[in-house]
Amino acid sequence: MMKTIERLESQVRGYVRSFPTVFAKAEGAVLTDTEGRQFLDFFAGAGALNYGHNPEPLREALLRYITSGAPTHTLDMATVAKVELLEEIERTLLKPRGLDYRVQFPGPTGTNAVEAALKLARKVTGREGVIAFTNGFHGMSLGALSVTGNAFKRAGAGVPLGHTNFMPFADYLGDEADTLTYLETFIKDSSSGVDLPAAIILETVQAEGGVNVASFAWLQRLRKLTREHGILLIIDDIQVGCGRTGPFLSFEPADIEPDILCLSKSMSGFGLPFAITLFRPELDVWSPGEHNGTFRGHNLAFVTATAALRTYWQDDALPRATARKHETARKRLEAIAARHPELGASVRGRGMILGLDVGDTGLAGRFSRAAFDRGLLIETAGPTDNVLKLLPPVTLTEAELNQGLDIIDEAVDAVMAENGPSPRVVA
Ligand SMILES: *Cc1c(COP(=O)(O)O)cnc(C)c1O
Repeated sequence: MMKTIERLESQVRGYVRSFPTVFAKAEGAVLTDTEGRQFLDFFAGAGALNYGHNPEPLREALLRYITSGAPTHTLDMATVAKVELLEEIERTLLKPRGLDYRVQFPGPTGTNAVEAALKLARKVTGREGVIAFTNGFHGMSLGALSVTGNAFKRAGAGVPLGHTNFMPFADYLGDEADTLTYLETFIKDSSSGVDLPAAIILETVQAEGGVNVASFAWLQRLRKLTREHGILLIIDDIQVGCGRTGPFLSFEPADIEPDILCLSKSMSGFGLPFAITLFRPELDVWSPGEHNGTFRGHNLAFVTATAALRTYWQDDALPRATARKHETARKRLEAIAARHPELGASVRGRGMILGLDVGDTGLAGRFSRAAFDRGLLIETAGPTDNVLKLLPPVTLTEAELNQGLDIIDEAVDAVMAENGPSPRVVA
């Protein structure tokens, strides 16, 4: 069956190269291939499957909806499914957090939520520039690429990507450097060459960029700075929202409110394509249809998104469990770093996104392959694929978490044994 993929699917295919098998079944944190081999999934659809594969309450809601004769596709017309979702977002997400946002349904991908955010920020302020951060990732369409750091992805555009400036993210210049004073200096100085931007866009934990964590204090200062200078703050919570770091919104513990918020990946809760862009009501200056898209009325995703909010977010059991699992995972990754001092590895993360940074050794990719051979899907991240990135379903059990960490232990030990007792290994 892999032969069919190789014969017919474009070279652009990616993850199938890291995980070369054909999957036939999926349940919770486990994927099963056509040979019956089981894989624990520590990749979780790059964060689109925070509640695991085919979560039962969502599947039931979806099947009920499909067999009821209710509409599947409705552009952006009103349906019962949409009304129920908006009410559930208001009741479960916004009200308890004291948030007042309008909800926009752009096309059903993360990159589309980002495009909508950038367009709106430019329209509201009448300014063109946007500031983004080193190692940020925001998607593959031209606007989203223009605020994405990675040179390889940017080059795919084939045209100049403009109207953006990049600034150093939280710890990009090391623990000591004050990246926000640096940023503010550029904004304040009318001769810095950086014009006052419409917006600043960021991920609170840079996921693709290598699990780089902004401290809550840094986020609070950034919020203050953007407010003082009349710059809109866009938080892209596409990968680290929906409970990935513990709370539904990654920035809740910092007690800040972005002006514009992008959510996608796990927002449908079922892996169905879905995205929303939320913003303060005063920013809602769109003309009707000014940013549209055929698949804004994806009712199946509305149904599962509503079910996800009703199933997982009526109390704080899930974020509490995520915090406990974080401690388990962090301790065990730190033990790996301590067992192999020659790696010079460091551990970063928040909630159920953690990274083991092994630097520019090529080893993270080899760990990932060795883990795959032992029944674990786990990806790499970072500018040189220098980080082994743990991204399991946040709902996995402690037993599954430990089972996956056992495999990581074995995979790291096996790769390091192959390398022999050299002081600092280079692949
Ligand atoms: C995945 C991702 C996107 C893009 O989402 P797509 O659905 O792939 O277009 C944007 N921002 C972040 C932080 C992401 O992780």
